Amino acid sequence: MNFFDLHCDTISKCFSKIKKSMLKNKYHIDIERGKSTFDKWFQTFAFWMPDTVNSDKAYDLFLKQYKYMEKFELPIYRGNFDANFKAILMVEGGLLLGKDISRVDELKNKNIKILTLTWNNENAIASGALSTGGLKPFGKQVVCELERKNIVVDVSHLNEESFWDVAQIAKKPFIATHSNAYDVCNHVRNLKADQIREIKSVGGIIGLNFYKLFLEDNCKNGVNALIKHIDYFLKQKCEDILAIGSDFDGADMPDDIKDITFVPTIKQNISRCFGEDIANKIMFENAKRFFDQTFN
Ligand SMILES: [Zn+2]
Repeated sequence: MNFFDLHCDTISKCFSKIKKSMLKNKYHIDIERGKSTFDKWFQTFAFWMPDTVNSDKAYDLFLKQYKYMEKFELPIYRGNFDANFKAILMVEGGLLLGKDISRVDELKNKNIKILTLTWNNENAIASGALSTGGLKPFGKQVVCELERKNIVVDVSHLNEESFWDVAQIAKKPFIATHSNAYDVCNHVRNLKADQIREIKSVGGIIGLNFYKLFLEDNCKNGVNALIKHIDYFLKQKCEDILAIGSDFDGADMPDDIKDITFVPTIKQNISRCFGEDIANKIMFENAKRFFDQTFN
């Protein structure tokens, strides 16, 4: 099967654990398992910026993680899916920009394709899901500059006020790389119905997150809970914008989604419930189409 994942934290995870290998490890994702599980595998890898450091430290951390990642010689996505495995790069947490707009150029030079504007707290751009306040003047500048440089704005982790501020000024499609439906699981990181409609109307996509707490309260069966979210999204006519943003190596997974080798079973279940065409769209095609339209 083919798999397109809009979000994992494997680089930051391996980097933090005394620099474990991305090629082979015991975490949710390593390159060896991914490549042997899928025919085509397009994996987005995030450089995660914790809210606990200042912006200069965050930028320094990004550079260090980047250098570490380069050791593994991954086939980095530069706008072409010309191999069966591609590593798409994103930054999770706009904190690393500080108030320096020229750092967007650096992201562009380093082939970063997506920037998640915040993590859970406030930064110089906007406010995350666990904080109050909307998009700041510098944040407006950042959204415009990202669009100008063709880096996709990721609204996962934003609070509602910041989300709607972004929606008001964005001229290009924005996406939610790893968020579920709030109506199915009332978590502050999940998307309300009107937010989902907005992302759909601007031509964005939404990646379903496998994190236990975003799937279901007291989640016992992750795949069943995921099916409930998919059912909801399909009822909102989202079959062409729904994708996966696993959050592997960034979150606690349910027992039945232990790591990336469990993805084929998830697909079988989606196929069984909603048909093969829908399963292919969610697992691969919708995200692939969005990237082709955005970066080609
Ligand atoms: Zn996240």
